[in-house]
Amino acid sequence: MSDCIFCKIANKEIPTQAVYEDDMVIAFNDLEPQAPVHVLVIPKKHIASLLATTAEDKELLAHITCEVIPMLAKKLNIAETGFRTVANTGEEGGQTVQHLHFHLLGGRSMQWPPG
Ligand code: 5GP
Ligand code: ZN
Repeated sequence: MSDCIFCKIANKEIPTQAVYEDDMVIAFNDLEPQAPVHVLVIPKKHIASLLATTAEDKELLAHITCEVIPMLAKKLNIAETGFRTVANTGEEGGQTVQHLHFHLLGGRSMQWPPG
C-alpha cells in the first residue's frame, strides 16, 4: 500500500530503528509511547487489521503471538513483571493506523478496563 505509513516503515522508505526484524515482521518503538516499553510489532505484508486476515496468515499470526512477542518481552525485560498486548481494530477499537499492528506495552502497572 503506497500511502500506508507502516508499509513505508516496513520497506525502509521511512528509516526506523528496528527493535527486532525478520523476513515476516518488524518491531519498532511507538512514536508516542504510553508506557516505559511501548513497541509495535507489524507484519511486513500489508494487512489492514485482524478483520482482514485470512487462513494464509495463520503462520504469520502464530509467529507474532507465539514467538516474536514472548521473545521481545524477555529481551525488553518485561516478561517477569508482566506486559500487555493490544491489537486495536476499527473506529471504536481505537485503530488509527490501518495496517495490522500489535502494541507491546510494559514497565508500569496497567489498568483494566482500558479507557
Ligand atoms: P493504533 O491507534 O492504530 O492502535 O496505534 C497506532 C500507533 O502507531 C500509535 O500508538 C501511534 O503513536 C503510532 N504511530 C503512528 N505513526 C507512527 C510513526 O510514524 N512511527 C511510529 N514509530 N509510530 C507511529
Ligand atoms: Zn501497510
